[in-house]
Amino acid sequence: MEGAEHRPAPLHLVPVTTLKGVGPRTAQRLAGLGIETLQDLLLHLPSRYQDRTRVVAMGGLRPGMTVSVQGEVLGNEIKLGRRRMLLVHLGDGTGLLTLRFFHFSAAQREALARGALLRCFGEVRRGANRLEMIHPEYRPLERLDDPAPESHLTPLYRTAEGLHQLTLRSLMEQVLGRLQGGALREWLPSELRAHLRLPAIDDALLYLHRPPADAPIEQLEERRHPAWRRLAFEELLAHHLSLRRLRSAMQGHPAPPLTGGGTLAVAFLGQLPFSLTAAQQRVWEEIRRDLERPVPMQRLVQGDVGCGKTVVAVLAALQAVEAGFQAALMAPTELLAEQHHANLERWLRPLGLEVEWLSGHLKPAQRRAALERLADGAAPLAVGTHALFQEQVEFRRLGLVIIDEQHRFGVHQRLALRDKGREEEGRPHQLIMTATPIPRTLAMTAYADLDLSVIDELPPGRTPVVTVALPDSRRKEVIARVGAACRAGRQAYWVCTLIEESEALTAQAVEETAALLAAELPGVSVGLVHGRMPARQREPVMNAFKAGEIHLLVATTVIEVGVDVPNASLMIIENPERLGLAQLHQLRGRVGRGNRESSCVLMYHGSLGETARRRLAVLRESSDGFAIAQRDLELRGPGELLGTRQTGMLQFRVADLQRDGGLLADVASVAAQLEERYPGHVTPLLERWIGERSRYGEV
Ligand code: ADP
Ligand code: MG
Repeated sequence: MEGAEHRPAPLHLVPVTTLKGVGPRTAQRLAGLGIETLQDLLLHLPSRYQDRTRVVAMGGLRPGMTVSVQGEVLGNEIKLGRRRMLLVHLGDGTGLLTLRFFHFSAAQREALARGALLRCFGEVRRGANRLEMIHPEYRPLERLDDPAPESHLTPLYRTAEGLHQLTLRSLMEQVLGRLQGGALREWLPSELRAHLRLPAIDDALLYLHRPPADAPIEQLEERRHPAWRRLAFEELLAHHLSLRRLRSAMQGHPAPPLTGGGTLAVAFLGQLPFSLTAAQQRVWEEIRRDLERPVPMQRLVQGDVGCGKTVVAVLAALQAVEAGFQAALMAPTELLAEQHHANLERWLRPLGLEVEWLSGHLKPAQRRAALERLADGAAPLAVGTHALFQEQVEFRRLGLVIIDEQHRFGVHQRLALRDKGREEEGRPHQLIMTATPIPRTLAMTAYADLDLSVIDELPPGRTPVVTVALPDSRRKEVIARVGAACRAGRQAYWVCTLIEESEALTAQAVEETAALLAAELPGVSVGLVHGRMPARQREPVMNAFKAGEIHLLVATTVIEVGVDVPNASLMIIENPERLGLAQLHQLRGRVGRGNRESSCVLMYHGSLGETARRRLAVLRESSDGFAIAQRDLELRGPGELLGTRQTGMLQFRVADLQRDGGLLADVASVAAQLEERYPGHVTPLLERWIGERSRYGEV
């Protein structure tokens, strides 16, 4: 073993300012790229490569190649077309190539005179008469047998304003020179690496920054090379470890055991017009066991749209209330929160329980009163939007937090909840529900801090929704069909989607659509809801739709979650190609809730591309949310599936869940082994890959 004093300083502790050529300005620009230490610099990996290791004979050039060539200038000319330009004709005995310059000086022209020997690097294009390069890099040669240009593939890095590619490359060369001798610490012990056939970290980095001349350039650029896999694995491992740390930190806190005889649950179930499905029953058991323990539950309930998650959530809430604690149910949209509030009041009033309502739109006096009832414990249950978790909100004894449709929330909001419990009573239990089924591997990455329950059964009597895709050139026909259905006593949704994130524009679009449909469908009563409407306008519309007084509800995607009107059996979705499959499936889940045959028309605009066609076909052919999500993952990637707000936590530097998904199975087991046998490696790994964000782990 080497003496500690001979060990080079670990690169994650050495600032880049120690490198030659890094003054304050460069340091600032590097910081803009997230590079502060030598380790950061090493993890700034090439985005592409160039092959300057070989000189290609001109006879073998093809358009599109980016290569080095060399030869003798046979002559040059100035051409006056729309733009003045310099053409330099170069030959190497096997072929000819023209270099074309739009910007040049007299001195340059001089240097590129007949007889000069040049080596050029650039992309070969088809010119008017022969192949050419536009503004290639070039340098004069003394002799044509000068040694080969480069001994390694040339990396190309993402740069920043004022930071030259060559500067980055030369800094990288300096650091690579210091890689030897374990300066970059290896946190994946070789026994774990050997099993996974992954190279050591310094070998991997050296290879990626300075690939040998014969390296498979395509495999490198697609990031499928083992050196890339090594880094992707380590990054996924770090993410997984951070979630596990989050989890165990949470488990280190006490939580109130929520026990009781179940009297409220029995009373609640007794008044429902149905009995629980076996899946609901099983998941409820899993939740109840968690709630009775003195550590905070952290459970994610997944279940396809319409499987009946709300009832399970209510059972959990009642368990908290019976044990003398409060429960809060948070929904991502006002509309969904309102629906939950209405349902809970209907169900729980008869049991003598008041349900408090909290949204961002309460009048000050109402809000004050609501806050008071939560703070003094007069309100055992609260339903609301994220307004529930603002700082001013205090609970007297919060025992359970339920988050519905959590894919609409960010991880930060999820984490903010744990602070709402009272210190002396421990943390509240957390129940998280989502109808966006996340394929298993992805769930393991995104939700490694949660236990998972799945409601994998729909209540009996549901009829699958018949889905068709039609071009909007057949709009008239579709409108006629909606009219006929409404006149026959059915109810329908007309959903407008808009690309713009602007709620104002979306609101305007639905208003126009509603007006048009009302004009074209005399005798059909048309209602309208969108996210910008205040609750006092929205509520009467929703109630009238539920009561069957409104036949056709024109809406934005706000109805994606939470609307439950069993008599509605037809849905038209305009421009479905703008939405993800999982979201379309959610929307479609608003129909098919009664026992009537239901249908959904995906009315797309113009002609569909191949991917769009395939995606809509998935919806036509499947009614299984899990299968649809899996296909969505394959077709569009995890970011789309989890929703933009959720992706922050899945923003990887190297890893790509689609490409590297195969690594995830090992990630979980290596994480466990590392924690057990090399606990000291965990924090440095988090710091290397997650940096500041690893603080989430310090609960
Ligand atoms: P989701 O899981 O999509 O949130 P909901 O909780 O909104 O589903 O339930 C959808 C509909 O199914 C509601 O009308 C609910 O009352 C009803 N429902 C829930 N469980 C059952 C059941 N076991 N049998 C029949 N209907 C049920
Ligand atoms: Mg729901």
